[in-house]
Amino acid sequence: MKVTEHLSKAGGKTLFSIEILPPLKGRSMNEIYQAIDPLLEFKPSFIDVTYHREEYVYKKRPDGTHEKKSVRKRPGTVGICAAIMNKYGIDAVPHIICGGFTRDETENALIDLSFLGIDNVLVLRGDSIKGEGAFIPEPAGNAYAIDLLGQVVNMNKGHYLDDELQGVAPTGFCIGVAGYPEKHFEAPNMRSDLKYLKAKVDAGAEYIVTQMFFDNKKYFDFVATCKDMGIHVPIIPGIKVLTTKKQMTVLPSLFHIDIPDDLEDAMEHCDTNEKVKEAGIEWAIQQCRELKAAGVPCIHFYTMGNSDTCKRVASQVY
Ligand code: FAD
Repeated sequence: MKVTEHLSKAGGKTLFSIEILPPLKGRSMNEIYQAIDPLLEFKPSFIDVTYHREEYVYKKRPDGTHEKKSVRKRPGTVGICAAIMNKYGIDAVPHIICGGFTRDETENALIDLSFLGIDNVLVLRGDSIKGEGAFIPEPAGNAYAIDLLGQVVNMNKGHYLDDELQGVAPTGFCIGVAGYPEKHFEAPNMRSDLKYLKAKVDAGAEYIVTQMFFDNKKYFDFVATCKDMGIHVPIIPGIKVLTTKKQMTVLPSLFHIDIPDDLEDAMEHCDTNEKVKEAGIEWAIQQCRELKAAGVPCIHFYTMGNSDTCKRVASQVY
């Protein structure tokens, strides 16, 4: 079922959904099941599976020189989605990205997803490869999420890249996109970022999932501004539970978000790792309770392999 159908059938109830990462290459699918099983009691409406493009690693040769190799550390997005739908009967949402794909390869990947009975995709640009600076699309690839979105919309209308194909079957993907309550880090300002977000919605995006945020005001302001600009699709807040002091510096540098003063103070006053984790959980519980009270359509948890803390929060909210 499509994410939008889940949202409209909820009748105003705040749904629960999660995002998981494929395991590192060579690890087992059991890691995914172990991450999902503890959260089944909250009836996730859908489960997003991230997509990880290749990275460069440097391997030392016997003569001491280094060889630059491209590897994908977390492959398996499509297989994991199929396995989730098969084992749990829960809708899986694969993330698809522009980076590393030609349009042809994207088309073939979308055909695979469609044949597997997957109804949803979260369409993203992806980040640059580490060490590459700015994002560089493939020569025959999509440059922005909106270009990839256009390709999915076309396939939904039965327009494939080869317009001479006969008897084509349209795909039926429900399309989600990313939004940034604290602005995407490359955008010159919020107005510019929102202009492109609106363009994605106008081009066919049916819902938005936000980057993680720790200050609900930023989300509420974002939603209000989106509405003022004519963005009327559901905006699903993304929540991450802070569990270590280190994350207070790592998350802002990775995701370009702020840690509120009060959360920082609460974490800094903790003298054990356990207390830090409890403070992070308590913050997330309060955040989610407020979001739920405000009637958000769904709360989307970035589990990042830590179902335990997500379960602690969800059990106090749902
Ligand atoms: P876009 O919408 O293309 O925007 C990128 C930047 O370009 C923005 O600054 C925007 O303002 C600007 N822009 C947009 N359109 C145009 C245009 N036409 N002309 C000029 N400027 C434009 N990354 C992964 O690699 N795998 C994942 O699984 C993944 N999952 C994610 C899930 C969520 C919910 C979120 C919020 C992010 C996720 N990301 C993932 C990270 C994402 O790929 C990066 O944040 C990326 O830098 C931007 O992706 P986007 O889809 O928002 O890009």
